[in-house]
Order: sequence, then structure tokens, then C-alpha cells
Amino acid sequence: MQFRNFKMVGYVVYGRGSFNQLNEIIKPHRKINAPIIFLVDHYFEDKPLANKIPLQGNDKLIFVDVSYEPKTTYVDKLANDLKEEFGTVSGVIGIGGGSAMDLAKAVSLMMNNEGSSADYQGWDLVKKPGVYKVGIPTLSGTGAEVSRTTVLTGPTKKLGMNSDFTPFDQIVLDPELTKDAPANQRFYTGMDCYIHCIESLTGTYLNEFSKSYGEKALELCREVFINKTTWDEECDEKLMMASYAGGMSIAYSQVGVAHAVSYGLSYLLGTKHGIGNCIVMNHLDEYYPEGVKEFKLMVEKNNIEIPKGICANLSDDDFNKMMDVSMGMKPLWENALGKDWEKIMTREKLRSIYEKL
Ligand code: NAD
Ligand code: ZN
Repeated sequence: MQFRNFKMVGYVVYGRGSFNQLNEIIKPHRKINAPIIFLVDHYFEDKPLANKIPLQGNDKLIFVDVSYEPKTTYVDKLANDLKEEFGTVSGVIGIGGGSAMDLAKAVSLMMNNEGSSADYQGWDLVKKPGVYKVGIPTLSGTGAEVSRTTVLTGPTKKLGMNSDFTPFDQIVLDPELTKDAPANQRFYTGMDCYIHCIESLTGTYLNEFSKSYGEKALELCREVFINKTTWDEECDEKLMMASYAGGMSIAYSQVGVAHAVSYGLSYLLGTKHGIGNCIVMNHLDEYYPEGVKEFKLMVEKNNIEIPKGICANLSDDDFNKMMDVSMGMKPLWENALGKDWEKIMTREKLRSIYEKL
């Protein structure tokens, strides 16, 4: 048995208002003539947060377009432009949801690695550490702030740059930053965390390490999405810690059926991760009976509309593309269904799931 020896985030600061310490935190990492680059979710373009970013000297603030989930072409362009303009940079700070944080991780790595980010989609292909990188979530749920991956859509696949060089050197968890997230978006991203917990806790890879984090994250999700009647500051705090713990849980286990199926959707249709997971989870009673029941209760309590019929007009060719992507996620299937998963999840079976969506 080979146990996973995983790299974690270097430093963590947590607390309402901790964003105000950012200047002090990054100061020791500033190198002469090498700027700090802030990649900020475009949502914040005219918002007060943009004015609180501690820019100095030749630092640069770039509002990143997260209308689509991060593509390798976008990462390459950002990194190449920075290399051309500055040669080298002191660090990259990602402020936003999972998309902006993933962009920051990938751009940091590409500042020090040759070629295209598409060359590094996979496991442990990254050769050199990136530049100093900081993640600051403004949405809670993906666990991207703690994970060792950055999920990218490339020319041939949707797959992360999974490596020991990928985790952030520092994260700043300030629940104040998530307070204005729209209820729908907050729910979809929050459900990413809930689904991480269900998939981790029912998976065959489960051990006491991931169980302890998964159970805590699940409890926090229940508190905010079932027990609370109105969203308040405490909810932002709880969901931020749920995201962190949920991410820690899957660091030592794996996700499962909802993620494997949802990856196919997002590859073919561009469906975003959070909402895609919800669309799939709605139909997974057979695999996660308890989890799906509770998920539906959360949907109802929070007055959320989950889209239906998104695969209604697809061709055989489309279904095949989605199934190829989904079937490629071997560790996810093995975690969910065990070593003999291929006997259980046949292409016919998988197609019948896609047809229901
Ligand atoms: P997101 O980052 O895609 O953002 C969704 C929307 O919310 C965007 O329109 C954004 O502008 C907006 N937004 C962000 N913060 C806001 C705020 N405070 N108030 C109002 N609007 C705000 O959403 P997400 O669900 O956080 O992230 C999904 C992405 O994360 C996907 O690209 C997915 O692949 C990735 N992901 C990565 C990991 C990982 O481990 N690296 C894990 C899960 C998901
Ligand atoms: Zn997820």
C-alpha cells in the first residue's frame, strides 16, 4: 500500500476583515522591479473591493473574464503577456471564485514552466515551482483554495494541472468577501461542497482523515442550507469553512459519480461546474439515495430552480463525446463504485443518465 504524501497550502489566514492584512502578508515576497500581479474576478470591476487592493510600484491589476471556465489558451495568453511586459514577477494573487483562483494557480506555474499549460494537464507533469501565489476566495464551495489542482479546458480535454507545485503558498479566508454573492450562485457553488462531502463519505477511498473533514463540512452545509431561514454573516463564515474542510476531505479521497458525469457536460456544453453538478445530482438516487434526498430538500428550502432537459436535443455523437470524457475519469468511478466499476457503469448505463438530464 502506497499512502499519498500530499502537499498542502503554505499559510492560512482566516477571519472577517483579514483581507486588509494582504499588503503586510505579501510584503516579504516582493522582489526588486518584479511586480505583484492581481488577477481579480471581473465581477469586482466597479466594486469597492477593487479599491482595497494594495497596489504598489509597477504592480498590475487584471480583471479576469470568468464568463467561461478557465481555458489553457487564456492561461497561456496571460502568462506570455506578463513575461513579455515584465520578464519576471514577484507573485500572482487570485481573487474571486474557483475560476479566478484556478487562473492564478495556472498563471503562476506557467511563469516558470515552458510551453503551453495544455502540456501539463494531467498528474505530476509540472516540472518547476511557479512564482509565489495567493488565493482569496469570494465564493465558497469549490475547495479550489486548498486543492492541488487547477482545472483547465484544453484543446483535447478538461483536466487539471495536478501537482505538488499547484497549491497556493498562502490563502486569505475572509468571509466578508462572499457577502454579496447572488443566492443562486452561492447555492450552486455551495452545493459543489455538499456534493464533495457526499461523494467522499460514501466512496471506497474513504479513510479517517477524509472522513473527519467531510463530516464537519457536511454538518456546516446542513446548517446553512437547511437549518437557517435567512442568510446572515454566520452563514458566510460557515460556508467558507465548509469549503475548506470539503477540499481537505477530497484531498485524501476522491469525488464520484456526480463529478464524473458533470465533467462531460461541461466539456461538451460548457456547463459550469457548480450548476452542472446540481443538474446531475438531481438524478443520482440510485448511487446516493440519502444524499440526493437531502440535496432535493436543500433545493426546495432555498427556492432554487435546477435546469432540466439540457441534453434533450443532442446527437449520438454528442453523447459519445460526453461519455468519453466521463469514462476517462477512472479514479472517480473507482472511488464511487469500486474496482469493478466498469462492469457497473457501462456505456448504456451512462447514456441513460445523460438522457435524463
Ligand atoms: P466561478 O469562479 O466560475 O464564478 C461564478 C460567477 O460568480 C462568476 O460570474 C463570477 O464573476 C461571480 N462571482 C464570484 N465571486 C462573486 C461574489 N462575491 N459576488 C458576486 N458574484 C461573484 O464559480 P465557482 O463555482 O467558485 O468556481 C467554478 C470553477 O472552479 C470552475 O472553473 C471549476 O472547474 C473550478 N473548480 C476548481 C477546483 C479545484 O480544485 N481547483 C475544484 C472545483 C471547481
Ligand atoms: Zn467539485
